[in-house]
Amino acid sequence: MMLGIFGGTFNPIHIGHLRVAEEVLQYLELDKVVFVPSYLPPHKDLADNVRGDKRLEIVRLAIAENPRFEVSPFEVDSRGNSYSIRTIEHIREACQTTPYFILGQDAFNDILTWFEKDRLFDLTHFAVMSRPHSLRPSLKDVIGPHASRYRAAGRGYVNECGNEIVFVDVTPLDISSSRIRELCREGKSIQYLVPTAVEHYIKNERMYE
Ligand code: ATP
Repeated sequence: MMLGIFGGTFNPIHIGHLRVAEEVLQYLELDKVVFVPSYLPPHKDLADNVRGDKRLEIVRLAIAENPRFEVSPFEVDSRGNSYSIRTIEHIREACQTTPYFILGQDAFNDILTWFEKDRLFDLTHFAVMSRPHSLRPSLKDVIGPHASRYRAAGRGYVNECGNEIVFVDVTPLDISSSRIRELCREGKSIQYLVPTAVEHYIKNERMYE
């Protein structure tokens, strides 16, 4: 089983998330991608304090038509700070596989600030997606001393545990949740930036007004 874990706040999920997840799934030939909305993101404020169960619900609505996409309530149900290492350990245990942790280049560039970062490299592969406005510095500039554990191989880098860091050039989609929240606040349309079911849910729940 080749599994991707896509963590994020998904506040809200948008078509940028969906398209890049699809492209990573194809590129790495994954069996499925599991979207894991965070309960409390450790690295940023939770804008508008949108409850975890609502963000979980819009992810459910957004992925409903893709049989290879799943959503996990693990972080929302666990409450407290959502540390990716816990999710990775949980998935490793539950699925008996080393997953690919899927994240944008902007998030990867901050990885040295993550909780228990030293152990992360032992427990997961990384699929790092390009993102408009995000630079792709050298591996050493991003992961510092951990880079000495990796050697260039195939489609990226691999360490002594056999864990890869793969850089995936995805279609540049300059869409962000912050921009969508801003449009909502300004009373402007978000049609075509999010799936229709998500657009309706956001409107009905007045999520970002
Ligand atoms: P915000 O604008 O609130 O910061 P966001 O749009 O970055 O939110 P998140 O839920 O924080 O959304 O993103 C989850 C993950 O998806 C992150 O790793 C982020 O880098 C990645 N991501 C989000 N949008 C894109 C995009 N358009 N292209 C590539 N990666 C993306």
